[in-house]
Amino acid sequence: MPRAIEARGLIFSLRHAPCAHICRYCLVSETRKASKLPFARFERLLHRFYDWRDSGRTDISIRTFIGPSFDYDIDTLEGVRRLRARRGNPFEILNLGGLRMRDADALKTWMDERQAAGIVGFHASLAGCGKVHDRWNGRAGDFDYQISILRIAGERGMTRQERLFLTRNTLPLFDRLLDILESLPGGVRSRIVTPFFYASLARRYEDQRITEDIRDALPERIAKLRRGRFSEWLSEREWIPVLMETAGEPRKIAMKLDVHEGNIDELESASCEAIFARQERLYRQGYDRMPSFEELCARYGDRSGHKVYMLPRDLEQKWMDMHERETGIGIPPD
Ligand code: SF4
Repeated sequence: MPRAIEARGLIFSLRHAPCAHICRYCLVSETRKASKLPFARFERLLHRFYDWRDSGRTDISIRTFIGPSFDYDIDTLEGVRRLRARRGNPFEILNLGGLRMRDADALKTWMDERQAAGIVGFHASLAGCGKVHDRWNGRAGDFDYQISILRIAGERGMTRQERLFLTRNTLPLFDRLLDILESLPGGVRSRIVTPFFYASLARRYEDQRITEDIRDALPERIAKLRRGRFSEWLSEREWIPVLMETAGEPRKIAMKLDVHEGNIDELESASCEAIFARQERLYRQGYDRMPSFEELCARYGDRSGHKVYMLPRDLEQKWMDMHERETGIGIPPD
C-alpha cells in the first residue's frame, strides 16, 4: 500500500528576483532565474486564494515563495508585505542570499530605501567564513559583502537573523565565524546552527554531513545554537524507530505550485478548488508510485547510519532517491 497523503495547503512559488549566488547547497536550484510574469498578476492570484481560504477553507494554508532572492524593487516589496499580511505576518526582514553586489554608494541608497520602506533588519545564511563560505555560495567576496551589510545595518540600529550551516568543513571555522559575528554592532534577533536539509542540490554533499559523534562532542558555543524548529538532530539509526511509530499515517504536505508566464492564464481562469484538487492529484499520483514508508525504510534505511538529519522528510527523500536510482521510478514532487 503506497503512503497516503494529506494535502495541508499550497505554496505558490514565483521566480521574480534573480539570484546572484550559485550556492552548492541550493534548495531552489531550478528556479534561480527570474520569470517574466509581472508581480501584480501573481499578487492578484494570491489574494484570490486568500479570499477563498477566508471564505471557509481555513483548514488549508496558503504560502508564497517569492524569490529566489529578496532583491526586490520597492513595489514588489510592498506587494510581498501585503501578501504576508494576509497570513498575519509582518514583512520586515530581508534575506541577503542572492543579493547583487553593489558598490558602496549604491548599497547605501539600497539600504536607505529599504529602511524607509519599513525593513528593520537582514537575514544572512553563512556556511563557514572567508573562502570556505564563498566556495559554498559560489561567489568570491560574498562573505565579506554580507558581513559588511550586517555591519552597516547594525550601525543604523537595524537587527539581524543568522543561519549558520554546520558541515564537516565549516565546523573548524565556527570559532572564527562566531567571533566575527559577535564583534558586529546591532542586535541579533535570532542565530541558529543547522546542517543542510536533504533536498535539491544539497543532496550531493552527504560526505559533509556531521555524525552523531560530532554532534555529541560539539562545543557548548555551537551546541547552544541548535534551537528552534530545526533543533531535532537525530542520526538515521536514531530516526528510524521514531519514524516507524507513525509510518502508517498520511504524509502531511504543503504542495508547491510554480506560477509563471506559461500557466498564469490558466490559473487565473480556473477555480481555487480546481487548482487545489489538481495539485493534490499530482502529488497523490507521485506517492502512489512509491512503496509504503515502511517498505522504503526496510529497503533503504540504514539502521546503523550515524549521519545526522533534521527532518523526517530528509530521510524520506533520501530513501526515495535510492528507490529512483534502483528502479527508475521518479520520485513524487516535493
Ligand atoms: S541564495 Fe543560494 S540558496 Fe538561495 S536561491 Fe540563490 S543559490 Fe539558491
